[in-house]
Amino acid sequence: MTKEDDYLLQLNDQQRDAVVYNDGPQLVIAGAGSGKTRVLTYKIVHLLHHGYEPWRILALTFTNKAAKEMRERIQQMVGPAVASQLWMGTFHSIFARLLRFNADLIGFKSSFTIYDAADTKSLVKTILRDMELDDKVYKPATVIAAISNAKNALISPDMYIADSAQMSADERAKRPALGAIYRAYCARCRHAGAMDFDDLLYYTNVLLRDNPDIRRKYQEYFRYVLVDEYQDTNFAQHVIIRQLCEESKALCVVGDDAQSIYSFRGANISNILNLHKSFPALRTFKLEQNYRSTQNIINAANTLIAKNKEQIPKQVFSRNDVGSRIEVVQAYSDYEEAILVANKVSQMQMRSHDPYNEFAILYRTNSQSRRLEESLRNRNIPYRIYGGLSFYQRKEVKDIVAYMRLAVNPDDDEAFKRVINTPARGIGDTTVNRLIHTAMHCGVSMWNVATSLDCYDTGLKSAAIKKVTGFVELVQKFVGMITANASAYDVARSIVEDTRMLASLIHDNTPESISKQENILELLQGISEFVGERMEQSAQETTLVDFLANVSLSSDQDMSDSNGEAVTLMTVHAAKGLEFNNVIVVGVEEELFPSAMSCDTLRGIEEERRLLYVAITRARRHCVITYAASRYRNGQTAPTRPSRFIGDIDRGYLYISPGSEFSRSDSVINPLDNYRDSMGGRMADDRRRSFRHPLVDDEPARSNIHPVNLSSNPVGSSGGTQADGGTHDVADIKVGMRIEHSRFGVGTISAVTSNAPSPTITVAFNVVGEKKLLLKFARFTIL
Ligand code: ATP
Ligand code: MG
Repeated sequence: MTKEDDYLLQLNDQQRDAVVYNDGPQLVIAGAGSGKTRVLTYKIVHLLHHGYEPWRILALTFTNKAAKEMRERIQQMVGPAVASQLWMGTFHSIFARLLRFNADLIGFKSSFTIYDAADTKSLVKTILRDMELDDKVYKPATVIAAISNAKNALISPDMYIADSAQMSADERAKRPALGAIYRAYCARCRHAGAMDFDDLLYYTNVLLRDNPDIRRKYQEYFRYVLVDEYQDTNFAQHVIIRQLCEESKALCVVGDDAQSIYSFRGANISNILNLHKSFPALRTFKLEQNYRSTQNIINAANTLIAKNKEQIPKQVFSRNDVGSRIEVVQAYSDYEEAILVANKVSQMQMRSHDPYNEFAILYRTNSQSRRLEESLRNRNIPYRIYGGLSFYQRKEVKDIVAYMRLAVNPDDDEAFKRVINTPARGIGDTTVNRLIHTAMHCGVSMWNVATSLDCYDTGLKSAAIKKVTGFVELVQKFVGMITANASAYDVARSIVEDTRMLASLIHDNTPESISKQENILELLQGISEFVGERMEQSAQETTLVDFLANVSLSSDQDMSDSNGEAVTLMTVHAAKGLEFNNVIVVGVEEELFPSAMSCDTLRGIEEERRLLYVAITRARRHCVITYAASRYRNGQTAPTRPSRFIGDIDRGYLYISPGSEFSRSDSVINPLDNYRDSMGGRMADDRRRSFRHPLVDDEPARSNIHPVNLSSNPVGSSGGTQADGGTHDVADIKVGMRIEHSRFGVGTISAVTSNAPSPTITVAFNVVGEKKLLLKFARFTIL
C-alpha cells in the first residue's frame, strides 16, 4: 500500500474490500452505522486517487444535508478544487442540471422553472375549476398524490387513461376524471415552461429513453455512479440508474433493507432486493461491524428488527463500550411525558457534558412537537426543529391563529390578508389589492373598508362584494363571541368549525393532510390545556388575548443558545442517516408508533418496526424510549398501550423504570399477542383508525376509544362544567395524602387551605413539581 493510500487504513477489511472493488456493479448491504456512507465517501476518494476525473463521478444522496456532508469529508481528503467538481447531490438537484442541458430535446426551454408544492396545488385547483369538477370529490391533495404516484411509476397521462387498471376499481368509480386531470396538468406545466419535483425524475427518464445518443453520451460520460440509501429509491430513480449504468456497469449502491421507511412516497424495497436482475454480475458486500453505537444499543436494535419476517439476514455487532441499557420510561400522560423528556435532557446533559447538538428527540408525527417545544422552552433548553417548522410556524396553525387575531383585533391587516381567502372562498388577488389600496388611501384598516363597502369607492363588482361580505360575517361571529366574553377555547373551536378548516381536510388520507389535521387538533388541545391550567390554579376565565400573548412569546424566541447549540427535534423519517450521542424516542405506543394507519397489514407493521429500528440506531451512547398511559390525539384523550415493539426488544437490553407497564409481570406484552396483532388483519382492523374527529360528525363514535368529546371538555367549554373534576370535599382531603392527577401524575398533598368559597390544595407532584390547585376544578383521584 502506498502512502497515498493511507485513507484505506481508516477502514476495516470488509469496508476496504468494498472500496477497492472495481470489477463491476456492486451492492453494499449492511445494517445501521456500519459505515455504508463512509464506504461511498472513501470509494470516491479512491477513484480520484486512481485517475478518475471528478466531473465524471456521479454520487446521489437522499437529502441535501447528506450530499453536503459527503462533499465536506471528501474535500478534507482531496482538497476543495477536486471535490467541487464532483457531480454530487440529491436525485432532484442532479437531474434538474441534466435536464437544463438537454431541455430542448424534451420540448422545454433550459430556463424552465421548478414548481413547488404550493404552485402545484394552485394549478390543480385551477384545472378542477376549469373542468367544473367538484373539489370535494376531487380533493386537490388526492389528485396531486395520484399524479405524483403515476409519475414516480413512470406512467404517462396516456398510459394512465388507456390502462385504467392503474387505478383500483373503487378509485375508478369514484374519480373517473383523474386521467384527464393528469393530462391537463402536464399540458399546463408545459405551457408554463415549468416542471414539478416528480417531473425532474419523470423527464430524465423520458430524455434517456427516447434519445439513444444522449443516453450513450451520459453512459460514457459518467465513469462511476454511486448511490446512498438505495432502499428508499422509487421506481423512476431505479430506472434512471439502470439506464445510466447499463453499459459501464460501474455502479456502487449502498443501503439497508431494514431501514426502508419511505414506501408512502413510492419507495420500493424490491429495487434493492432485485438489483441483481438488472445487473446479473452484481456482487454483494456485507459490512458487519457497527462503529456508531454501544453494544447495548445495537443488540437491542437487532432483537427488534429480527421480528420482521421480510428481510435480508445480516449480522451487526459493535465493539464499542457495552454502554447503558436503553431506558424505557412511562409517563401518565403526554403532558407529563414532555416534562419528563425535558428533565431527561437536562440530566443527561449535566452528566455527559455533551453539547445540546448531541441530543435528538424523535417522534412519529409532527404534531407531537408542540408539547415538547413547550416543556423545553419552560426549562430554557434551546431546541431546533429539523426538516420542518416549529409548531406555531406551520401554515395550518398560523391560519387559525390569524383568525384568532382577527377576532380579537379585526383591524389587524396582516391577519386579515392571510385569511381573507383561506380556506379558498373565491376572493382573488384583485379584490384583495383593491381593499388594500382603499384602506391605505383612506388611512383606515382593511376591516374598516370591508365592513362598510358602500362607504368606499373600492371599484369592486357585486360578486366580489358578496364574497367579501360573507367573509366579514364569518369573522363578525368570532368578534361577537369575544365581546360576549366567550372562553378562548370556545372561540377557537368555533373558528375551526365555522371556517371548515378541519372539515376540508378530513377526507384526505395523504400524510400531509393527516399531519395538518393533527396539528389543528393539537392547537385546540393546547388552548384547552392553557385554559384548564389557569382555571385549576386561579379560577380565571382565560381569554383569547391571554392565549395569543402566550403564542407570540413562544414563537418569536430564537431558541438556539449563544453557541448556536440546540437539541434537535424531528420526525424519525427526517433522522435517516444522522447520528447523535443521545436519542430520545417519544410516544412509542400502539396506534401512534406503529401508526394506526399501518396496523392492518403485516407489511405496514414491518415498515413501522423498521422506522423504530432507524430511530434507535441514530444513538451513539444513550437511548431512551418513552410512552404515555394516556394521550390526546385526533380530538380526544384516550388511554394508550405501550407499543408492541417495546415487547419485541430483548428485556436484557432494556432498563425499565419502576412503575411502568413492563415492570409489572402481569402486564408484559405477550409475544404471541404481538404475532397475532401483526398477522391478523381482523384484530388490527378493529383498532385501526381512519381519522375520526369529534368536530366532524360524519362517522359514529367508536366504542373502544374513550369518548372525551371536545365539546364536553371540562374546562374548555364556556359552561365550565366539571365533568371529572370538583368532586372532592375538603373535609376528605388531608396533608400527606397521595393523589393521582389526570395530567400531572402522582403527587403528595403538602397543604390544604379551606378558605371559602375556594379551597385550594398544594401538591408536590413527582415529575412536574409543586402546584397549587383549586379544589373545585382539580381533577384527581385519591390513591
Ligand atoms: P446508516 O445506516 O445510519 O446510514 P451507515 O452505515 O451509513 O449508517 P456511517 O454513517 O457511514 O454508517 O458510519 C457510522 C459512524 O461510524 C460514522 O460516524 C463513521 O464515521 C463511523 N465509522 C464507520 N466506519 C468506521 C471505521 N472503520 N473506523 C472508524 N469509524 C468508522
Ligand atoms: Mg448512511
